[in-house]
Amino acid sequence: MAKLTRRKMLAAGGVAGLAGVAATCKYQTQLHLLRSTPEHDGPIPSGWAASRVQGYRKLGSTGFDMSDISFGCSGLNDPKVVHRALERGINYFDTSPDYSHTESERALGQGIKATTRDKVFVASKFCTPSGHLDSDTPVDEVVKSVEDSLRRIGTDYLDVVHIHAVNSIDRLMSPTIHEAFDRLKETGKVRNLGVSSHTPDLETVMQTAVESGRFDIIMVAYNFKHWPKLEQIFANAHQRGVGVVAMKTLKGAYHSQLSDFTPTERQSFPQAAFKWVLSNQDVSGLVVTMKGFEQIDEYLYASGQSMTDRDLALLAHYDQLIDDHYCRPGCGDCLDSCPSDVPVNDILRYQMYARSYGQERVAMTDYARLDPAHNASQCAGCPAPCEAACPHGLSIRQRLTDAHRELRLA
Ligand code: SF4
Ligand code: SF4
Repeated sequence: MAKLTRRKMLAAGGVAGLAGVAATCKYQTQLHLLRSTPEHDGPIPSGWAASRVQGYRKLGSTGFDMSDISFGCSGLNDPKVVHRALERGINYFDTSPDYSHTESERALGQGIKATTRDKVFVASKFCTPSGHLDSDTPVDEVVKSVEDSLRRIGTDYLDVVHIHAVNSIDRLMSPTIHEAFDRLKETGKVRNLGVSSHTPDLETVMQTAVESGRFDIIMVAYNFKHWPKLEQIFANAHQRGVGVVAMKTLKGAYHSQLSDFTPTERQSFPQAAFKWVLSNQDVSGLVVTMKGFEQIDEYLYASGQSMTDRDLALLAHYDQLIDDHYCRPGCGDCLDSCPSDVPVNDILRYQMYARSYGQERVAMTDYARLDPAHNASQCAGCPAPCEAACPHGLSIRQRLTDAHRELRLA
C-alpha cells in the first residue's frame, strides 16, 4: 500500500477529501451503535504481540524525547500494566488525582519504581480527588494539591502539571494557579507548566497559551476532525519550544460499537487514527488510555508507522458512520440556544466515557457534579431548540435523556 505524506494528504483535502472513497463502500446503512460489541472480533492479530515504541519525539524545550504513543492513566489501577508499558518503551505517563479517585496516581507511582525516575516523564493536574480546582482557589490550596499528588505517586517532582479543563482565558491565566506553579517550581516540586482542554474555545485557549510564554506543554483534543487553526497553532508552538501532546485521538472511540464496521475495520481503526495524528510532525506525541496488556500490544503497533491510503479510507468510512452521532470537542454551537444552560457537550463527553471507554464510574462522578438545574433532567418536555443549532444534526434531546438515565448515580 502506498505511503502518504502529510502534504499529499492535505493536498487531497484530508479525510474529507476521501468522502468519495467512503461513499463507494458497500456499507451504506444508517449508523447503528451496538452497546455490547466486544473490543475485538476474534483473536488479536499475532503481529501485534510484543509491539514496541518505534518513535520518540522532542517534547518542546523540556529536553525530553517522549514516546510517540504514550500512556493515559485514566482508569489505571494495576502497576503491572505500567511495568509492561515501560518494557515496551513507553516513557510518558499522564495521570490526575481524580482518575480512579487517586488510585491511578498510586498505581503509577508503584509502576514507575521499576525504572529510574529520570527515564520517565510524569504529568499530573492541578486537581483534587474530587475534581478540578476552581480558578480562584487560594495559592496554598493549589500548592497542597500538588504536594498530595507527589506523596501518592511517591516522587519528589512532577515533570509537568497541567491546568486542566481550561474553558476560558481567565482560567488559563488564573493568578493564584500561576503563583502556585511559580512557588512549586522554585522548590523543585514541578518542572513544567501545561494546559489541557477540549473546550469550545479550544483554538483561542491554545493560541493564547502558546503566545503567553508561560506554558511548556499544551495537551489538546486533536483527531482527524481537523480544527482549522490547530495546525498553525501547533507550528507556532513547535517554533517557540512548546511541546504538543494530543489526546482524544480516537474521535469518540465508537469503532467497537459500529455494526457497519467490518471486524478488520474495528481492529485497524485505532492504529489508523494514531498514524493520522502523528503524521503532523509538530505533534510531540499522543496520550491514549491504556486499560490492560492487550491495548499496549494493539496501540504500539502503530508507533513509528506512516499512514497509508487504506488508513485514510478507513477514517473516511468511520467519519461517514458517526457524522450525526459524534459531538465534536471544541464545538459548542448549541450551547447558547439552551434556555436551561445545559452543558450539552460535556454531558455527551461523559456519555462517551461510559459507552466507549468503559469508564462508567468516571462518567457518573463527573455527571453528578452538575447542578440539577442545569443537567439533562431539564430536557424532558423541552422543545429542544438546541437541535436546530447543531450543524451536525445530533438528536440532542434523546441523547441527553439517555445520558441522564445512564449516568445518574443510583
Ligand atoms: S433539549 Fe435539553 S439541551 Fe436541548 S435546549 Fe432543551 S434543555 Fe437544553
Ligand atoms: S451537540 Fe452539536 S452543536 Fe452541540 S456541541 Fe455537540 S456537535 Fe456542537
